[in-house]
Amino acid sequence: MCGIVGAVAQRDVAEILLEGLRRLEYRGYDSAGLAVTDENGTLSRVRRLGKVQELADAVHANPVSGGTGIAHTRWATHGEPSEINAHPHMSGENIAVVHNGIIENHEALREMLREKGYVFTSQTDTEVICHLVDLELTNHTSLLAAVQAAVKQLEGAYGTVVMDRRDASRVIVARSGSPLVIGFGMGEHFIASDQLALLPVTRRFAFLEEGDVAEVTRFDVNIFDRDGHPVEREVKESEVSHDAGDKGQYRHYMLKEVYEQPIAIQRTLEGRLHNGQVISSAFGDNAEELLKNVKHIQIIACGTSYHAGLVARYWFEQWAGISCNVEIASEFRYRRSHVFENSLLVTLSQSGETADTLAALRLAKEMGYMASLTICNVPGSSLVRESDMAYMMKAGAEIGVASTKAFTVQLAGLLMLVGAVGRHNALDAAGEARLVSALQSLPAKVEQTLTMAESIEALAEDFADKQHALFLGRGEQSPIAMEGALKLKEISYIHAEAYAAGELKHGPLALIDADMPVIVVAPNNELLEKLKSNVEEVRARGGLMYVFADTKANFASDDTMKVLNVPHCDEFIAPILYTLPLQLLSYYVALIKGTDVDQPRNLAKSVTVE
Ligand code: GLU
Repeated sequence: MCGIVGAVAQRDVAEILLEGLRRLEYRGYDSAGLAVTDENGTLSRVRRLGKVQELADAVHANPVSGGTGIAHTRWATHGEPSEINAHPHMSGENIAVVHNGIIENHEALREMLREKGYVFTSQTDTEVICHLVDLELTNHTSLLAAVQAAVKQLEGAYGTVVMDRRDASRVIVARSGSPLVIGFGMGEHFIASDQLALLPVTRRFAFLEEGDVAEVTRFDVNIFDRDGHPVEREVKESEVSHDAGDKGQYRHYMLKEVYEQPIAIQRTLEGRLHNGQVISSAFGDNAEELLKNVKHIQIIACGTSYHAGLVARYWFEQWAGISCNVEIASEFRYRRSHVFENSLLVTLSQSGETADTLAALRLAKEMGYMASLTICNVPGSSLVRESDMAYMMKAGAEIGVASTKAFTVQLAGLLMLVGAVGRHNALDAAGEARLVSALQSLPAKVEQTLTMAESIEALAEDFADKQHALFLGRGEQSPIAMEGALKLKEISYIHAEAYAAGELKHGPLALIDADMPVIVVAPNNELLEKLKSNVEEVRARGGLMYVFADTKANFASDDTMKVLNVPHCDEFIAPILYTLPLQLLSYYVALIKGTDVDQPRNLAKSVTVE
């Protein structure tokens, strides 16, 4: 789930491994470690609980040398975060392993290995891989064959790299359910769970596919599919920018990414709108053929992406005139659901590796959906490869664990899909032209909305001593309220809930008092008067309100209510615009609380485990 870096080179690789781990820090982790082997068969392993910097300090205090190495940042799933449980794990003195993911049958394997005399030193599921490889080496002559035999016995998800102290000329990598890339250098090769880790040393990458096992030496990369047949995986030049891992002038990645939204939206729109129409090939070469027959949309996503899906449901039904369901991937994949006729499956995921969403896509493919489309930010990711169509978000790398620009760019992509599908249904040419012009106005509107930062920073002070918060919205803004609550929870650890404002009197009103700030998103739409009644309900119970309102919505600040104006905009794009003040609010509240904004506790960036 977290980070893997590996190298087979002539030069000492410890610094390359450490820099790679640093570049993966954004994913969130609890411990870090590395192991390097030199030509004489000396293996050095260093592990630390806590930050990569602590590992680096330990390595610098006692330098390690060797051209072959593996390194890892761990996000504990089995066994507490501790030095003992940090990777690399070892079998005896020879086999060292790093692993992302979860081995589901680890208990049975552990038992079998114990009976054979293996002694376990950690509580992790990962350790079974080490001993299993060691055991298979008694039946096979090469490390490659032993790993191939070992992974056949694993159930669950893994991206793993295996090194043998006795042969520093190679490492073996295997992928199933957790991404791995191989980086190509000059007389050296690298491995990582994300190409970002390797950008300082190479820009040429091959992406392993599900079930692949590869033998990586300084000069060769031999890849085999799950049946052991040799396969070629295309080597591509990376388009990810080198400075993607750089915070620039900003204090946090999250803030940088909030401010990147105008340019990220600009980029996602570029070349995809023309003459008042959405260019349907933005969704793939054959998209027009498929999209014209769509009569129902099923959206699958997790977390923030799920909220984008919920907004889109309002859009598809209101503007495109077609039905739309939205479901959390982890629910969808484990229940029986009905497939509507001519139904398009849409998955939303920043990373394209979200384990539950990927599993849902695979399941849906067997269920008879007309086609699948993914809206995704990472080219070459599993969702992109396995879907019939893909909309590439082009938002640039998102490093902050709490998603910001990926959400608004997803919404822009979904709005385009409303245009491309809607034109074959209830959206007439004038409607599509209005949608397109609203999208074109977005970068400037977003820029303008971000100027609210200073007043939001001042307002955040009010939240410093609060334990709870309630977010309210109506219609397509109710998922925006949910996203606002999620952001506040994620990075400031304040308990926050969101309600469709009409639901207030059905329960949550009981919570209202002066210690429960209520945040309201109030664009100027047909539900405004209804929302105003909800605001009065809160006021009558002594609640304190913070209202983000359209300039034309006629809200005025008073003792119980602070009103901040959001620029007036076309209602097509209002959900995108109203997201921004909520992002800023959670950011500034987190700053006051002193939390780790970019790597909130217990969370990881791309959730590649179930
Ligand atoms: N399941 C393994 C562990 O708990 C790997 C966790 C990870 O993906 O970082 O150690």
